[in-house]
Amino acid sequence: MATRRLGEATFDHGAQFFTVRSPEFAALMSEWPVREWCRGFSGDDGHPRFMAPGGMNSITGQMARGLDVRCEVQVTKLAPMMDGFDAAILTAPVPQSLAMLDEPVPELEAIEYDRCLALMLRNAEQDLPPPGAIQTVDGEPVCWIADNHAKGVSGEPRAITIHAGPEFSLRHWETPEEEVVALLATGSFTEYKLHRWKFAKPRVLYPERCYRRGNIVFAGDAFGEARVEGAVLSGLAAAAALD
Ligand SMILES: Cc1cc2nc3c(=O)[nH]c(=O)nc-3n(C[C@H](O)[C@H](O)[C@H](O)COP(=O)(O)OP(=O)(O)OC[C@H]3O[C@@H](n4cnc5c(N)ncnc54)[C@H](O)[C@@H]3O)c2cc1C
Repeated sequence: MATRRLGEATFDHGAQFFTVRSPEFAALMSEWPVREWCRGFSGDDGHPRFMAPGGMNSITGQMARGLDVRCEVQVTKLAPMMDGFDAAILTAPVPQSLAMLDEPVPELEAIEYDRCLALMLRNAEQDLPPPGAIQTVDGEPVCWIADNHAKGVSGEPRAITIHAGPEFSLRHWETPEEEVVALLATGSFTEYKLHRWKFAKPRVLYPERCYRRGNIVFAGDAFGEARVEGAVLSGLAAAAALD
C-alpha cells in the first residue's frame, strides 16, 4: 500500500483499492480513512471497491500511530535480535523473510511471486472513462491504468498510474527505464517515475493464513489470499498463533 508524490501530483503505485469479504476485515476497515470508490471498472458488479482519499499509505500511517515503528531500516539477520524477544512475526515477502534466517524453511520455499513495473506519469495526456480506471481483460502488456485525480487521491489532474502485466514486467525487468517508459506510456507527460515491484503478487501461495516455526511466525499476503484483505487476515492469524 504505497503512495508517492511527483511535484503536486499524488499517485497510489502499489495496491489501488481493496475489497471486503470477511466480517473480521469489515470490522477493522470501518475505522480506516477510506471510502467507497466504485462497484467495478467495466460496469456495476455490485461489489464495493474501497480507496483512501489520503493515499493508500494513509491507512498504514493511521495503523502505525502510537506504535514504535522504525522506518528505513533493513533487517538483515534475525538471530541476534531474538535475544530479549519472546517471538517474531515476519511479514516481508517470504523470500525476504527467509533471507533473514540461518536455517532453510522447506515448507515455504514453493511460494513464488509475479513482478510488476509501475509507471507514474504527471500531466499525462490520457483520458479515462468514469470511475477513472481501466482493468484490462488480457492483463498484458498493461493490466491497469488509473487516474489518481478522478479517483480522488491527487489534487493535481492527470496523474496516471500504469501497471504492467506479469509477463511484460518479467521480460522488461532489466530493460533501461527510458525504454520501459516508451513502451508503456501513450501520449505526452511532463514527468515520470518508474517503480519495480519485485514481489508484487504471490502466484504460488501457502494454503494456511500463517506458518509458525518455534517462536517465529511467517505471515502476509502469501498466506491464504494475495490481496490487502488477505494480508490483514494473515496478520490476525499470526497474532492468534502466538496467543
Ligand atoms: C502493483 C500492486 C498492485 C496491487 N493492487 C492491489 C489491489 O488493487 N487490491 C488489493 O487488495 N491488493 C493489491 N495489491 C496487493 C497488496 O498490496 C498486498 O497484498 C498487501 O499490501 C500485502 O501486505 P503485506 O503486509 O503482506 O506485505 P507488504 O505490503 O509487501 O509489506 C512488507 C513490508 O516488509 C518490508 N520489508 C521487506 N524486507 C524487509 C527487511 N529485510 N527489513 C525490513 N523490512 C522489510 C517491505 O519494505 C514492506 O514494507 C497490489 C500489490 C502491488 C505490488
